[in-house]
Amino acid sequence: MLDRCNRLMTEAQKQGLDAVLVMSQINWRYFSGFTGSNAILLITPERRILLTDFRYTIQANQQTNGVFEVVEVSRSIGMDFISNELKRIGAKRVGFEDASITVRQFKELETLGVELCPISDAMANTRAIKSKYEIEQIIAAQNASDAAFTQLLGRIRVGMKETEVATELEYLLKKNGAEDKSFDTIVGSGENGALCHAIPGDRTLCHGDMVVIDFGSKVNGYCSDMTRTIAIGEPCDELKKIYNIVLQAQLNALAALKPGITGGELDRIARDYITEHGYGENFGHSLGHGFGLEVHEAPAASKTSETVLTPGMTVTVEPGIYVEGLGGVRIEDCCILTEDGYINPVNSTKELIIIE
Ligand code: ZN
Ligand code: ZN
Repeated sequence: MLDRCNRLMTEAQKQGLDAVLVMSQINWRYFSGFTGSNAILLITPERRILLTDFRYTIQANQQTNGVFEVVEVSRSIGMDFISNELKRIGAKRVGFEDASITVRQFKELETLGVELCPISDAMANTRAIKSKYEIEQIIAAQNASDAAFTQLLGRIRVGMKETEVATELEYLLKKNGAEDKSFDTIVGSGENGALCHAIPGDRTLCHGDMVVIDFGSKVNGYCSDMTRTIAIGEPCDELKKIYNIVLQAQLNALAALKPGITGGELDRIARDYITEHGYGENFGHSLGHGFGLEVHEAPAASKTSETVLTPGMTVTVEPGIYVEGLGGVRIEDCCILTEDGYINPVNSTKELIIIE
């Protein structure tokens, strides 16, 4: 945590900031280790202070392990303490999380009488490079997902509702070591597969369906993310054709994935292949995204992303084709960039699985 705070402060000082305030739960967890629901971090070149209320002081002291001074304040967390500390050090420019705080919080910050400078992007960039520990948690999360998916395949039957598939899968994730799912499980069967983020419903699995299953596990707060599309009985020729186009687009992007490529270039490789095969209009989302404490975080692998992928970054590779009235196919792996390539912790097969 100390190293993370130092990296943030170095970046903040480059931007001429005297202090940084952290007010979002994900970021105070990242920079301090504290997992409670109420805190503000005040990070200055000389002090790291965590303000929280009575409910959390013991927990905060344990979790921050001496890296932060824990200060008990009222539950609403008044600005008085922060104001006094900023005055004491003569802070004029203070970084705040422009991408996540509320208007109400911003108005509170304005009472501090300092120049408020956006620093969310710098925080996202700090978080984008994963440490060895973080990579281990991600791999553990993905292992739980792979094990759960394998077991799920033995339980899927014609006539099951989408909600049953999702519930079964989420149970299996936890049974295999996940502390939680990393986001609400997506199960889109038949024509529902055309909805990229289908909410599992009462539709039952029918012979000839393709079923898009997009899910993830969380271990020690870290998320994994994978999608597989399976068939219930033999699918029609068009769905089979679509499956093979998506698969080849994904393999092409994976073959190009290495440090130095930009998110935009990676996106283009998959998109060009899908476009050449006539389905460009049916691939309406980005190729991928980073993941970590949040399932969607920096960097983006989108058409417009100029971010150069570097070792320690995470990125999903998830092309898809969606045809209204017919269905959809998406195949997603979650990868971690290394010095000379990447780790793909997703072990589930990408050959089309047909459940009879
Ligand atoms: Zn996903
Ligand atoms: Zn994803």
